Amino acid sequence: MACDLCNLLAEVKLNSGAALIWGDDRLSVVAVDEAEYPGYTRVVWNAHVKEMTDLPAADRSRVMDVVWAVEAAQREILAPEKINLASFGNMTPHVHWHVIPRYRDDAHFPNPTWAVAQRASSAEVLAARRALLPALHAAIVEKVKAL
Ligand SMILES: [Zn+2]
Repeated sequence: MACDLCNLLAEVKLNSGAALIWGDDRLSVVAVDEAEYPGYTRVVWNAHVKEMTDLPAADRSRVMDVVWAVEAAQREILAPEKINLASFGNMTPHVHWHVIPRYRDDAHFPNPTWAVAQRASSAEVLAARRALLPALHAAIVEKVKAL
């Protein structure tokens, strides 16, 4: 398969969900392995669909409801300065949303995480944030199931 996200979803299933926080037949919520950004989460439509407007309205709403559930869980557990939501797909044209907790002391703040780094994050701070991941993932599952 030529699509990175189709490959990722296939891999996530093979590895019995190491990076998969929650999933159903339509959507997958995946923990992004990004050392500087513990809690960084992707919400991915399982099928290879290019644009949100390729989906029926009910499916679009479902995507966004799951994004809101992830955002709410990040706010509750991580208490970041800001949540960044992004959907690009220029290189990977497969519907997905990035949900990124941001902090004043993170590597790129106040710029997007795709910009040039502003500073190095402290190892202690990153370790403290990583320690919250089990609670974050549990909160995401709880909020998605409550939808
Ligand atoms: Zn794909």
